[in-house]
Amino acid sequence: MDIISHGLWGSGVFGQKSHKLFWLAFFFGIMPDLFSFGILFFHRIMIRFGIVSGDMPVQSFRPEHASLPFYVNPLYDLTHSLIIFLIIFFIIWLIRKKPLWEIGAWGLHILIDIPSHSNAFFPTPFLWPISDFHVNGISWGNPIIYIPNLILLALLYGWFFYSKKKKNT
Ligand SMILES: [Zn+2]
Repeated sequence: MDIISHGLWGSGVFGQKSHKLFWLAFFFGIMPDLFSFGILFFHRIMIRFGIVSGDMPVQSFRPEHASLPFYVNPLYDLTHSLIIFLIIFFIIWLIRKKPLWEIGAWGLHILIDIPSHSNAFFPTPFLWPISDFHVNGISWGNPIIYIPNLILLALLYGWFFYSKKKKNT
């Protein structure tokens, strides 16, 4: 899914308690793509402005895997693995002595990505590093996926604002 939808799903499901927790869940919702494609995006900007040297094809939005810098695939594996997510979730639980539910937005990001990425573009390595099993899903750019995504988000936020308003009256 696109990064904004990921953020909105994360905060819609896990960040309803307060403004602060909304943005915390939003952050965890976009984090997997921020720390993989986001870094690539800033790398490209730096190349474009001559801050660092490089020959990445700056104009292409979806580059071929072979033309990607070395760090993109490992970062994508790390941020899109349910196993890594669960380890971090339980470590934070152990440290705080209570779960940080907002981090669930990270897990939700991975669950949404599993069926909405095809083999053509970063299928989700959700069992990394134990297995490279992945699902050949339907790309989220396909209207069959993207339009229901928008409708479900609208319903989620409609319910979110309705229940908030009801609570306040
Ligand atoms: Zn993702």
